[in-house]
Amino acid sequence: MAVGGCFCGNVRVEYSGQPIKAALCHCIDCRKLTGTLFTYSFIVKNTDLKVTGSPKEVPKTADSGNYIKNYFCPDCGTPLYGMRVNSDGAAADGVTVLRAGIFDDLEVLNEHKAELEIYVDGRVNWLTAVEGADECVGMPPPSS
Ligand SMILES: [Zn+2]
Ligand SMILES: [Zn+2]
Repeated sequence: MAVGGCFCGNVRVEYSGQPIKAALCHCIDCRKLTGTLFTYSFIVKNTDLKVTGSPKEVPKTADSGNYIKNYFCPDCGTPLYGMRVNSDGAAADGVTVLRAGIFDDLEVLNEHKAELEIYVDGRVNWLTAVEGADECVGMPPPSS
């Protein structure tokens, strides 16, 4: 079980089990939604996730053409998680992309080195790649 939450503490997030994947994304949407250079996220099954509080939902059509929704603390603005949705707004895949920096215990992050970097074409040129991680220009193919 890993527990985390937003900057002000009004939203708490926890998951059981293990993340399916830990990944970095360097796309422009990820820069904007976090205000920093890339996102570090855990892909988790929706059934493993528990959220306490009332995150604000922000829908958008992503750069890739996918419909996405991102969730933020309504009080302090911390980005919490996002997911791909269908055109009717329903969750598209049974997984949530959790912004992993929100976890309280650094050990959770140490244990989950990023295995994948996507949109590496958007990585700033002075940042080095994560050693041993797979890389994709743009989105990974649907199977991965
Ligand atoms: Zn907050
Ligand atoms: Zn991204």
